[in-house]
Amino acid sequence: MASRERPLIGLTGGVASGKSTAARAFEALRPGCRVDADAAARAVVEPGSEGLAAVVAHFGPGVLGGDGRLDRAALRQRVFADAAARKRLEALLHPRIRAWMLAQAEAATTPYVLLDIPLLAEGGGRAAWPMLARIVVVDAPVALQEARLIARDGIDPALAAHMIAAQASRAERLALADDVLVNRGSPAELAAAVARLEGHWLRDAQPP
Ligand code: ATP
Repeated sequence: MASRERPLIGLTGGVASGKSTAARAFEALRPGCRVDADAAARAVVEPGSEGLAAVVAHFGPGVLGGDGRLDRAALRQRVFADAAARKRLEALLHPRIRAWMLAQAEAATTPYVLLDIPLLAEGGGRAAWPMLARIVVVDAPVALQEARLIARDGIDPALAAHMIAAQASRAERLALADDVLVNRGSPAELAAAVARLEGHWLRDAQPP
């Protein structure tokens, strides 16, 4: 483990690979250890935020709902089929999300801080997150990932396959991993793997 007092550990994985399930297992062992990317994504576009102002300046007031909050569905629709617009949106939001997550991490008091970064492989990898001491990848066979995605979101198999294909490949993601949590058994097996992994980190972090 790196020398930082509270090492920052990135948690990533493909869509429906089990990141949230793994993150909850870490949180159960070590309450407060986790900085959630969804919370970050919401926080940076709160009413009155610079992030929201930047999004409205670029995409127009049509992305605001009647309550003055960001209308996420409208924005998603706006960038869905427009790769350049999506890139622009990411350029506006990702640095803000990263800064928010790092500020949250500073406030943590756990022996390590787990940063939930779903699109780590797609968003520049380790180079975009040089402060990470380790990267943990939650890995599941694509067929299982697809089945879980269909079951959870009630979508059809073609859309599930499309969502998976639009992301980095399993191999690309695994190439970033310092640690891999294999999620092809039960949730209890995943929780046991999480406990083993954190035991390993904490033992290694102890001075000899
Ligand atoms: P997303 O990328 O959409 O944020 P995720 O990677 O966080 O998803 P989860 O939400 O943790 O994935 O898991 C996807 C679905 O698969 C959920 O419904 C979850 O309950 C289920 N699931 C995760 N792990 C297992 C497992 N080991 N056994 C059975 N079901 C599982």
